[in-house]
Amino acid sequence: MSTFQAPKGTYDLTPPRSATFLAVREAISAPLRDSGYGYIETPGFENVELFARGVGESTDIVTKEMYTLTTKGGDQLALRPEGTASVLRAALEANLHKAGNLPVKLWYSGSYYRYERPQAGRYRHFSQVGAEAIGTEDPVLDAELIILADQAYRSLGLRQFRILLNSLGDKECRPVYREALQTFLRDLDLDEETRRRIEINPLRVLDDKRSDVQKQLTDAPKLRDYLCDACKAYHEEVRALITAAGVVFEDDEKLVRGLDYYTRTTFEFVHDGLGSQSAVGGGGRYDGLSEMIGGPELPSVGWALGVDRTVLALEAEGVELDLPATTSVYAVPLGEEARRVLFGVVTELRRAGIAADFAFGGRGLKGAMKSANRSGARYTLVAGERDLAEGVVQLKDMESGEQTAVPLTEAAAELAKRLG
Ligand code: ATP
Ligand code: MG
Repeated sequence: MSTFQAPKGTYDLTPPRSATFLAVREAISAPLRDSGYGYIETPGFENVELFARGVGESTDIVTKEMYTLTTKGGDQLALRPEGTASVLRAALEANLHKAGNLPVKLWYSGSYYRYERPQAGRYRHFSQVGAEAIGTEDPVLDAELIILADQAYRSLGLRQFRILLNSLGDKECRPVYREALQTFLRDLDLDEETRRRIEINPLRVLDDKRSDVQKQLTDAPKLRDYLCDACKAYHEEVRALITAAGVVFEDDEKLVRGLDYYTRTTFEFVHDGLGSQSAVGGGGRYDGLSEMIGGPELPSVGWALGVDRTVLALEAEGVELDLPATTSVYAVPLGEEARRVLFGVVTELRRAGIAADFAFGGRGLKGAMKSANRSGARYTLVAGERDLAEGVVQLKDMESGEQTAVPLTEAAAELAKRLG
């Protein structure tokens, strides 16, 4: 193993590709920030208990994928595998649900950890931007979140994504369905592990990717036929609201999602260019989660979008984000005196809010101009001894190639003017 290798299932974000990740995080969070969602940040680890209760003892995330550790002090912690349980825990701890009007609307961005089998689009360390709207049961809120995610993907230029929508029922109708499903599943030809799953989380069996399992599920009872009237009406309202917003979705009654806490509305965003790791994001309503982790009744809804897979989706569609060059002016000093003088100009530009960079290390003109080109700067400032003797610097427009001598004392102002 090389010394310079990131751990298995992880990768580093380095320039220039890292700029795309920043832009994706920015694009996903922008519609949230414009819609009343406040920023929240929680620790990278939590007491393991939070996820065991909040995500669910029967989920793959908790049974197989969680990084758990015991501290020297004996605390049982887990690196966070997802964001919702932590955000809700933090909101309860800070009493945000008592501080003002509900819902409490929050957005977050961060790293998550799951011990998975690494493959394209599936990593052990990945990044999500998420949103949670806590404390209100209102189909408009479910619709808002779906519409904002759609807006985020569209603003990035993504087109080949689809929205899958389903309702998982509530504490009235879901248990009835669960039992009907269990009765059906117990008669099938399934392996031991799947048989165990029937008893603890039968809906997850519907999610089984194997075709021999899927074949046996054709006649499984359908959740849709078991939804109570309240759940049906709620779901119809969500569908009508997102339809009215012009957001296209597909009803997918097989969509159950991997976490235990979902009730009613569930949705997933899939991208058709990603192969088997096709989910770029997902979410839903989790009306019982607060009580599951020991809080009051707080019906809530949220989503998390995967940044890594969104970047892969952009690459799959060949979308190039329009990322403006980070440097506007590049300074190339020729000689000791020019170094001091031009660095002074660069500092002045930076203080005026103009992005500027500098040819360090006293390189020759040719190498320095190469760096200037690579920086994407619109203007280059070049100065040698003769220029300084005349009190000027050479200002080169990198687009037109045009070069003009500008008085040194006016260089910063002239650049500010030209760059608008
Ligand atoms: P999958 O079915 O692919 O395992 P999931 O249902 O476990 O996904 P969620 O828990 O809903 O995923 O997380 C939301 C999003 O986070 C996913 O849609 C995906 O984009 C991203 N994500 C989840 N796990 C990973 C991972 N191991 N590597 C990269 N991205 C991930
Ligand atoms: Mg998963």
